Amino acid sequence: MDFVQRKTADSVVDHFLKEAAEKEIPLVWDRYEGSLPQCGFCETGLNCRDCLQGPCISHPFKDQNKVGICGKDKDILAVHSFIRLVVQGAMGYLDQLTDFAKDVEAGEGSPKRKQEAVKLIKDIQGMWGDGNTDVMKKFPKALIDGWKAAGIYPDGIGSALFKVSQKLDGGVGNVEETLLWAFKGALMGCAAQMLQGRLKTAVFGDTAPTNVEVNLGVLPKDLPVVLLYGHFSPFLKQKIADEAKGKKVKVMGVCTDPFVPPYSFSPVTNYGSQEIPLMTGAVDLIVAGDQCVNPSLAELAKIWKVEVVPTEVLNRGDVSSFAREIIGMAQEAFKARSEVARDIPNIKESGIMGFSAKNIHADKVVKGLSDGKIKGIAILAGCNNVKFTQDQEIVSIARELLKKDIFCVSEGCASVGLAKFGLLNPKQRDASCGKRLSALLASLGKNVPAVIDLGSCENSGVTDFLLNMASVGKKPIKEFPIVACFPEANRTKAVARAAWTVAMGIPTYFWPFLPVTGSQKIIESLSGFCLEKFGAKLYVITEKMDYTKKAELLVKSLKKA
Ligand code: SF4
Repeated sequence: MDFVQRKTADSVVDHFLKEAAEKEIPLVWDRYEGSLPQCGFCETGLNCRDCLQGPCISHPFKDQNKVGICGKDKDILAVHSFIRLVVQGAMGYLDQLTDFAKDVEAGEGSPKRKQEAVKLIKDIQGMWGDGNTDVMKKFPKALIDGWKAAGIYPDGIGSALFKVSQKLDGGVGNVEETLLWAFKGALMGCAAQMLQGRLKTAVFGDTAPTNVEVNLGVLPKDLPVVLLYGHFSPFLKQKIADEAKGKKVKVMGVCTDPFVPPYSFSPVTNYGSQEIPLMTGAVDLIVAGDQCVNPSLAELAKIWKVEVVPTEVLNRGDVSSFAREIIGMAQEAFKARSEVARDIPNIKESGIMGFSAKNIHADKVVKGLSDGKIKGIAILAGCNNVKFTQDQEIVSIARELLKKDIFCVSEGCASVGLAKFGLLNPKQRDASCGKRLSALLASLGKNVPAVIDLGSCENSGVTDFLLNMASVGKKPIKEFPIVACFPEANRTKAVARAAWTVAMGIPTYFWPFLPVTGSQKIIESLSGFCLEKFGAKLYVITEKMDYTKKAELLVKSLKKA
């Protein structure tokens, strides 16, 4: 065997992997191993099937066949490979936002802050026009001016996303110009994420930092369980929780925003192990969006007699009736599945989740930086990727950074992975952090853990925190020692997110490497050209390295800042 990799660092998941192997139940890791060796050529980004004359490649070895039939050369092919990911990712944020806004406009609930919600709906409608939204005005003027000068200010969905998507269809723009279009598209995704975050608080109220339990041990043995998978309208989640109340039905989540006030949905696991909850036998019904949900769930669920209800279907009907139907189905399924054995390992971890820029004292963080108490700030993001041992990269990198007194914030599935290993548990803070960082975290309030979760990737907790830092510190974001890291990335939304983080002036590391490596020019543009335009690089690292080396790179970036 020439490829051996531990599948997961999570012992609870490992417990079920042995069972899956014995029973020959195919999981994501089996499909990955079955796909090896993966096509090294496709990883270069030098292939294209954007039209029906192709598919084409830029041949890496022959002297002829270097350009596609239409004339796309290797640099254009690679930049298009990047654009495809960014556009798909930015559309993900817009899709979530338009769903949510549609429900608000349809009067699905009564917003807590009605005037603010009405204003935000106007802003969202404005995105279809000139994109002149108030949220983008929250960015420092110098950054906005820089984006405008580069031509990448997100001036509406048509001008940003429709146009960039058409770059794939043809045109004679050079590589740098085309790359800038990708950043423009990414910033449109950023605007959508900010609007979603603000609309959520206007409608449901603020989320306070909350003690949440994570991992499979949170599943109850003796109650019907509905698991919410992926991203879909928060109104539907709220209505499902409303219906479950008083009926002793537990509603929990996987790869979904854990907070829709007043409800919270315990994260049962994170992206890489999303198939595993079924194996406990304790899931009675799955309600699944599209984003972040593996299609394999539908087939696997049949083994445990679990129905998977998709939310993103045509003619779904009204939200309240759908939610009622879901809870009724869960109750029936619980009765019908009484013979199915429930194997719930007694392993779970507590963590404080759901911080927001409003409840982090940015002034103390800024002072901590200027006094040298903390050496920098690291943003930890991304989900899991089967190419890496699940959770190992992000948890190990976080531990290295925390020991070095680097203030760590996280979001989404990255937070769930970190929570599983105690890094969101305040009781474990002092053991995880350097003394100076621990003291700073203690000064931020009661129960502040080693890593601060800034909420779901649906919302803009991290961006809001950065904006507060810039405002309190009275200097551009790029002048702070901040680095972003996606150690186990897989979603296109993460690519868009990484791109807009670079556009804000934050050096960003992304693993696995992006499929652009066939063009040295694109690799260099994502570093040198981005550094010149935004003051930060997007690093494409192809060399294999362990987490200590990765952490060293991150620390080195902070020193340069
Ligand atoms: S767009 Fe150009 S490179 Fe791509 S498949 Fe068509 S002809 Fe080939």
